Formats: sequence, C-alpha cells, structure tokens
Amino acid sequence: MSGRSRVWVALGSNLGESKQILQKAWRRLGNEEALDSICLSSPYITEPVGMDSSNLFLNAVGILETTLPPESLLVVLQQVEKEFGRSRKMVGKGYEDRLLDLDILYFDGCVLTSSKLVLPHPHIGERLFVLEPLVEIDPEHIDPANGLTAVAMHQKLLQQMDAGIVAVQDIKRDTWA
Ligand code: ADP
Ligand code: MG
Repeated sequence: MSGRSRVWVALGSNLGESKQILQKAWRRLGNEEALDSICLSSPYITEPVGMDSSNLFLNAVGILETTLPPESLLVVLQQVEKEFGRSRKMVGKGYEDRLLDLDILYFDGCVLTSSKLVLPHPHIGERLFVLEPLVEIDPEHIDPANGLTAVAMHQKLLQQMDAGIVAVQDIKRDTWA
C-alpha cells in the first residue's frame, strides 16, 4: 500500500506496573486505525545512575507502520501517554509523574527539526536503553543523520563507556511473560 511510513518508537515507563503499561500501550497503538504494529522488542530493565536503585525503568523499542505524517503521529502518541501514563491521584497535588513516555526515534528517513519534533530523536546515540532494543529488532537499521547502523551506534556507545567518556548504564533484558 502506498503512502505508508515506517516508524521506530521508544517506549519507557518508570513505575510499578511498567510492564503492563508498555504492553497495553503497544496494543492500544496497534489498534489505531492509522497504525499497524510490526514488532516490539523485549523489555529492558534499566537502573538509572545516581538515583534510588528501587526506581527501575522499563524500556522497549517497537516498529509501526502509519499513514499519518510525523506531527500527527506525535499527537496520537501524546494522547496515549495521557491515557496510560498519568496517575490521576497525583494530579491534585500538582505532581505529575509520567508513567509512559513514547518517543519517535525515526520516521522513515526523515531528518527534521521543528518546534514540536526533532528527527531522528536527538538522544539515540547516548542511550543504551534505546540502542539495545533497537539492535535486537533491527540491527542493520541505518540512522539517516549519521549513516551508522544500529549495531555500529551501539558499539560506539559501549566503547565510550569503556573509555570513561560516558557513564556506564546498567541494563538487563527481560521478557514480556
Ligand atoms: P522526554 O521524552 O525528553 O523525556 P517529553 O516526552 O515530555 O520528554 O517530550 C518533550 C517534548 O519533546 C514533546 O513535547 C515533543 O514535542 C518534543 N519532541 C521533540 N522531538 C521528539 C521526538 N522525536 N519524539 C517525541 N517527542 C519529541
Ligand atoms: Mg517523550
């Protein structure tokens, strides 16, 4: 079918029911008329550096196909973040802990910067919790901004960690079961 774009999405959650939130959010996205879910990585548990060790993060990367343009897709993702990601109990206190983060990593080969959207997502190369799941599902994907494969970006980040240029990020692959 013509007019379809391929999109790489990063999913993240940082509280108790994270696994359920990510799974349900992914299903929710696939049920959208304008979206088809193609595949989802394993979940990865990340222990954030310099934070309470009990505050684990869960991250995954998925691939979607869509008929929407990038800005409209972002609106859908932000709507789903709102549906799944916010604790209503906390709103009254003026505290809004975001339980679901949905970022667009890549949209076809788009390279663009607008007030609402930067593509590719600007932090891919620094984040093991993005590169590990990306390598799992799409190792040969080429970043349109730097021409590197996901595998090459992953290796580069690991080398920077070895060399002490970048802080070590602790990450463990989990299962959805
Ligand atoms: P973060 O993802 O950095 O933790 P948010 O999810 O709150 O923070 O996003 C902040 C803003 O980032 C959003 O309002 C959105 O307009 C902007 N943004 C820019 N580029 C992207 C992208 N590639 N994917 C998702 N959001 C993006
Ligand atoms: Mg975000």
